[in-house]
Amino acid sequence: MERGSKVTVLGAGLMGHGIAQVASQVGMFEVSILDVEKAYLDRGMKMIQDSIGKFVERGKLTKDEGDAALKRIHPTMDLREAVGGSQLVIEAATEDPRLKLDLYRKLSQLAGEDTILASNTSSISITLLGSVTGRPENVCGMHFFNPPQLMPLVEIIKGNRTSDETVNRVREASAKLGKETVLCKKDSPGFIVNRLLVPALNEAIFLVHEGVADPEDIDKAVRLGLNWPMGPLQLLDYVGLDTTLNITEVFMNEFQDSKYRPSPLLREMVRAGFTGRKSGKGFYEWSSPSATKAK
Ligand code: NAD
Repeated sequence: MERGSKVTVLGAGLMGHGIAQVASQVGMFEVSILDVEKAYLDRGMKMIQDSIGKFVERGKLTKDEGDAALKRIHPTMDLREAVGGSQLVIEAATEDPRLKLDLYRKLSQLAGEDTILASNTSSISITLLGSVTGRPENVCGMHFFNPPQLMPLVEIIKGNRTSDETVNRVREASAKLGKETVLCKKDSPGFIVNRLLVPALNEAIFLVHEGVADPEDIDKAVRLGLNWPMGPLQLLDYVGLDTTLNITEVFMNEFQDSKYRPSPLLREMVRAGFTGRKSGKGFYEWSSPSATKAK
């Protein structure tokens, strides 16, 4: 992608705002960001503004660079305007297969023929998304990590009909966004990172459920014994127990293998509304969204 190219981000939520910010902060691209309601778009732009403010405060960007980055981001609710002239569309809309399929059908009508349609989905098949576009060779997975502004990795996922050229273009674009990449050669649920992480988190819940150890000790063991920066149960509270349960269910359905069975305690806690940090309670108590009570 040449300097001055346009990058489009669909969805201004947790991930979309961060991806748009990354694309703008590298200083080479004009960025269009779309959401379906003005309130969501405004919230996304506010998150970008606050995050750029923090980069400036910490001396990672000058005030002028921060202002210029903000100016390169163009919010819109019009899909035609968002994707018109764009070389790369990064879709970070709600994780709902029906919603995404509907969006990809529209994209195939509105995006340029050469435009790459990259999805940040964590669990929906790239092959499936490509299948409704009439140009599956241009559809690829581009999986960022939260928060995209700080996390250096992008997993590139090759769908069954994704072309090598598309993979190479996504690899180059990711490098220009300052990211390291790994290639997931097959469109396999959980890709690399979540395939490893989610069963490990689930196993930690089994340890609690079986009464083998308390959450604090499991987390301490993994921090000090495996050098993880955060224990698995604390991490679960951050990721969200509901999100984790959804992923284990995708694994169960797709692999048809009982080794991915979610812990009954995970199910019970989600039913009870203890979804982690966002609800105020998971394996730890979170009195306010920013308070850390976990050890
Ligand atoms: P989110 O709920 O914070 O944001 C999703 C946004 O998409 C919302 O603002 C919603 O209004 C918007 N949206 C809904 N329909 C849309 C449409 N048709 N067009 C454009 N925008 C639309 O969700 P999120 O956590 O940012 O997740 C977005 C995607 O990123 C999902 O596919 C998710 O699997 C993936 N992802 C999430 C994480 C994470 O840690 N949250 C990490 C990696 C990947």
